[in-house]
Amino acid sequence: MPPSQKLYALSELNHDQEKLIAKAQSILPAKLFFKAVEQASVAISITDLNATMLYVNPAFTHVTGYQAADAIGKPQSILSDASTPRALYTQLWQQLQQAKPWSGVLINRRLDGSPYLADINIAPVADQDGVVTHYLGIHRDVTAMHQLEQQVRNQKSLIESVLDAEPVAIALLDESGQVMLDNHAYRRLIQETESQELALELLKILTQQTENTFAKVRARSENFVDHEICMDIAGLPRWFSCSGTWFKERDTSADAFFAPRRVDYLLLVIKEITALRRQQEEVRMNALRALMAEEELVQSMRETIAGAIYQLQGPMNIIQAAVNMLKRRSVNHATPDPLLGVLQEALESGNQALVTLHASMPDETGEVFVPVNFNALLRDVLGLSTHRLLASGVVVDWQPATILPPVLGRERCLRGMLKQLVDNALDAMQGAGIDVRELHLSTSTQDDMVLITVQDSGPGIPRHLHLRVFEPFFSTKGHSSKAGMGLPLVQEIVSRHAGVVEIDASCNEGCRIVLRFPVASKACVHSIDNEVA
Ligand code: FAD
Repeated sequence: MPPSQKLYALSELNHDQEKLIAKAQSILPAKLFFKAVEQASVAISITDLNATMLYVNPAFTHVTGYQAADAIGKPQSILSDASTPRALYTQLWQQLQQAKPWSGVLINRRLDGSPYLADINIAPVADQDGVVTHYLGIHRDVTAMHQLEQQVRNQKSLIESVLDAEPVAIALLDESGQVMLDNHAYRRLIQETESQELALELLKILTQQTENTFAKVRARSENFVDHEICMDIAGLPRWFSCSGTWFKERDTSADAFFAPRRVDYLLLVIKEITALRRQQEEVRMNALRALMAEEELVQSMRETIAGAIYQLQGPMNIIQAAVNMLKRRSVNHATPDPLLGVLQEALESGNQALVTLHASMPDETGEVFVPVNFNALLRDVLGLSTHRLLASGVVVDWQPATILPPVLGRERCLRGMLKQLVDNALDAMQGAGIDVRELHLSTSTQDDMVLITVQDSGPGIPRHLHLRVFEPFFSTKGHSSKAGMGLPLVQEIVSRHAGVVEIDASCNEGCRIVLRFPVASKACVHSIDNEVA
């Protein structure tokens, strides 16, 4: 091949490039281009317009097995393999006929008949007038790389099949929390929870439950095993046991080629344990029922005694006033009014009765503040009220927040308070003429507050009584057997938890009670967890 022959299409070069090439040609030795092609490590062939080989370099011989003497004068098609789709050749030639380069992967056969994958670039070479006179073919054997890619793909689909066959939900997260790999069970869970970022949501709950923040856990790459999480999905509580395993992998990005880096991955395994928890829940509910019955008894005794004290206090005050008056009058009389003695006696025995009543008041059970989940408490209350709800034909609409942050509180006290509200709602719907009996319960979060609403479809509370119903011994039920201490006690408990309770004035159907409690700060939960531990 003459050294002056150009190996590129001049027609595609602009004026400046042409000048640069002319300059390079004047500086570089004439045979340098030829030597460079000869010594190149990729297979190079130059053909005429019929693809008859005019030149092949030593690398061509190395790749194909054809010596230059065997190849020159033969068509390039001696390398072709029947399994390459015909359409590829047609496309290749269509490109070349438009004086455009073509690149792609073909199946080639070596001289010994063995196949290999050839990654080929074919470029037309034009003369000074822009007329294509030759073709330049450059190719590499990429069989090994293809096999490697295929192996990786096969392994990936094998891993995916194994993961998909697993009944537990699995997600692999990178350092930024992005899900890199998941399985059927995980995707099904995403559908059920309607949470696209389920893994992160779960980790958020874990962060609140574990003593470390997630960032700290990540920094230390600490694994965690069987951390239990409860989520309300479509109104039903479901329990999951979550485990996380951190592992490191080599960073595959280009800039880590010379300075290998390791990246963290978290393998999150989420196992549903709802069936097991339901059994445990049943046992717990039975124990809770017994406890609540006892607490209710104590509460009603406290209410009755408080009511008796309240009732007795009125006449006692009158007797005290009469005694004071008679004492003042008897100052100027030699003999005191005989009524004074009788009244003093009555006062004394009245006071004695008050002391006895105060002493017989059962103590409130002491309870410590712990992180409390209102979804769980409301579920308990619904469980405890099941018989009553069924007997009264009440339809329950339970809308819990899927994930509810904890509130610091006295668990039994708050549960009892919610039970009081639900009992009030059920009482309100007992009246004749109430056809629709619906109890709506919901929880949500708003500005670092946990919101709980209890709404019934009863007659409601008139607007002017919205504040009075929280006064002790006030009842809208007239002369009822109840002492009218329910809502005042609710208010007292709510206040003791830095919360707010109000009757929603905008509710026109039935009565809607709204409770607000501050979300427990992570620091508090952490310190309480430590104290409890
Ligand atoms: P062919 O009949 O040669 O070609 C199939 C299709 O291409 C038909 O549609 C036909 O009309 C069209 N065609 C063929 N020759 C021409 C032509 N001269 N002008 C216009 N259209 C034409 N093939 C490989 O399999 N492996 C290689 O490594 C390889 N390297 C090549 C390197 C160069 C520089 C060139 C120019 C071509 C190369 N080819 C290569 C393509 C090769 O020339 C054949 O087209 C191909 O091998 C198919 O051969 P065939 O005999 O089965 O079919």
